[in-house]
Amino acid sequence: MENKDKLLSIIVPCYNEEQTVENFYKTACSVLEKTGYGIEIIFVNDGSADKTQDILNKLADSDKRVKVINFSRNFGQQAAILCGFEHAKGDAVIEADCDLQDPIDVVLQMLEKWEQGYEVVHGRRIKRQGESLFKKATAAIYYKLLNKITKVPVPRNTGDFKLYDRKAINAVISMPERDKYLRGLASWVGFKQTFVDFERKERIAGETKYTLKKMINLAKSGIISNSDAPLYLSVILGVVCTILCLACFITFIVLTCCDVKLPLTAWLFPSVAIMFSINYLFNGISNVYLARVYDEVKNRPDYIIDTTRNVD
Ligand code: UDP
Ligand code: MG
Repeated sequence: MENKDKLLSIIVPCYNEEQTVENFYKTACSVLEKTGYGIEIIFVNDGSADKTQDILNKLADSDKRVKVINFSRNFGQQAAILCGFEHAKGDAVIEADCDLQDPIDVVLQMLEKWEQGYEVVHGRRIKRQGESLFKKATAAIYYKLLNKITKVPVPRNTGDFKLYDRKAINAVISMPERDKYLRGLASWVGFKQTFVDFERKERIAGETKYTLKKMINLAKSGIISNSDAPLYLSVILGVVCTILCLACFITFIVLTCCDVKLPLTAWLFPSVAIMFSINYLFNGISNVYLARVYDEVKNRPDYIIDTTRNVD
């Protein structure tokens, strides 16, 4: 099969990206046109409040390969990427952020791997420019923890910048669960997987759209959708606590037998307080899972589309 018979879908989530979308479009076209593949660029406008929508609509009017999906509000980057995946028609589907932090040149290496028969190609960051020490440090700790508690590890130093073969993308979008943690599902679906290393650049313009709240939500989603370890932790702590309490009682009895007079409250207060806090903590963890089950039962969609351009 010739390259031109194959279609590449580039999925680009955008949230208040008026300063970057046009630049992304030009760069993506100039790099990807050289490959000879057919291309479609699906911009998913995640409820931007700036001029992103107008700019995207103009691009779509002048180039039919540009498809635009406008959400009814901000549903988050993961929902935007999922929506792009669900509308992609390509033989290979690539996610890339609008701010060009994921360099488009790297897609060429991903395509080489795809041609060699790999079905998921992860972009792996070997350097991260323009990111705060806080973000780098919390990401390092978080992914280490996540890998310890998940059955199929989420590869370290990877984000959503990946290439998926049609087979893999079909598997990802067929998952019925809500609030998908896409970078976890990419490894979970299996198939032949490999990596392409790259240096993550600074944003070409604008500020990060990932607030601390959004980062925490994504981190929560990663754990809740991939691991039940926190639930089992409560059982382990329950056992440890029981043993500690028993030890406390035995100490009391021994001390009483040895005629040592300790005020009872000195022992009672910390042991009761510990029991209470551990109980609260694990009630809380169970509630987080319960909230997820509740969300699934409500069965609301992950996003709502307002308008589209060049989308069937
Ligand atoms: N994004 C989105 N919805 C959001 C937040 C971000 O679609 O609610 C997009 C954003 O426009 C960008 C990509 O997701 O294309 C990554 O966001 P950002 O660059 O702000 O995150 P960072 O690279 O700082 O982690
Ligand atoms: Mg970015």
